Amino acid sequence: MTSAPTPAPTRPLNDGGSIPLIGLGTYGLTGDDGTASVVSAIEVGYRLIDTGLRYENEREVGEGMRRSGIPREELQVTTKLRGRDHGYEETLRGFEESLGNLGLEYVDLYLIHWPLPRQDRYVESWRAMIRLQNDGLIRSIGVSNFLPEHIDRLLDETGVVPVVNQVELHPSFPQTEQLQYDAAHDIVTESWSPLAQGGRFSHGHRVIDDAAEAHGVTQNQVVLRWHVQRGAVPIPKSGSADRQRENLDIFGFELTDAEVASITDLASGRLWGADPATHEEF
Ligand code: NDP
Repeated sequence: MTSAPTPAPTRPLNDGGSIPLIGLGTYGLTGDDGTASVVSAIEVGYRLIDTGLRYENEREVGEGMRRSGIPREELQVTTKLRGRDHGYEETLRGFEESLGNLGLEYVDLYLIHWPLPRQDRYVESWRAMIRLQNDGLIRSIGVSNFLPEHIDRLLDETGVVPVVNQVELHPSFPQTEQLQYDAAHDIVTESWSPLAQGGRFSHGHRVIDDAAEAHGVTQNQVVLRWHVQRGAVPIPKSGSADRQRENLDIFGFELTDAEVASITDLASGRLWGADPATHEEF
């Protein structure tokens, strides 16, 4: 692919901000190569970069943002509160650690990485995040891997709705009900592992293969376009500039409603078995 991709359009967030329709995942992008991959992604046109304290690459992401030469206010970085930092004071400290790692003045989007309902401390964390937002250190606050019951509790106890819910979402696990819940609450659903960690949908699924041929694009572009047309924001990870460009270049074609529905019908279930109702990681 040689031509420069069309820059990703943005959509509004429920707090007055906005977010690009696609971002870069960075899990596994570490060290000098990781920094170089973040720089190349920004050069290719990504403006939303996803990391987390647990990924141990916030330094690389912050460094890549600085090295890119693109003004800070044109970039958006997401990072996440890890499990061991649940709780009010713990969240303030965990956030400070992330901000220090990134080497930035503020974070654009801060998410609770997992709800850890058995710990029952995510509401305390949410209150701390509301304070950090009021202090100007976070532009927008959201959640990840939250089920409707967890978001209902945040609303009941604080009245503050997350802007984003980042969940496992790909053709094997299309999350139709969670998407509907999020949309009804004006929450943007972000798709993690949007390509099911690569390869799985690159060939061998007739509906995706046929759509790729019909639109003159790759199978992975079909899958990423499927996310966008269902109202989700995918954050594919790639360390390769060519694949970063390929993944971003999905705004010049449109799948038919029938194609979108057939891809959704590939559903078989979660691929990694991490159920937010029980999963714990610290
Ligand atoms: P993805 O579905 O994004 O797949 C990434 C894999 O696909 C990599 O191996 C990559 O290889 C390959 N790939 C990417 N683009 C292409 C392409 N066009 N053709 C062929 N192969 C391709 O998986 P991730 O699990 O990384 O999910 C994305 C991001 O979501 C993570 O990086 C992280 O930021 C976030 N995440 C969040 C979670 C949460 O709990 N909130 C959990 C898991 C992930 P290569 O680099 O060589 O191109």
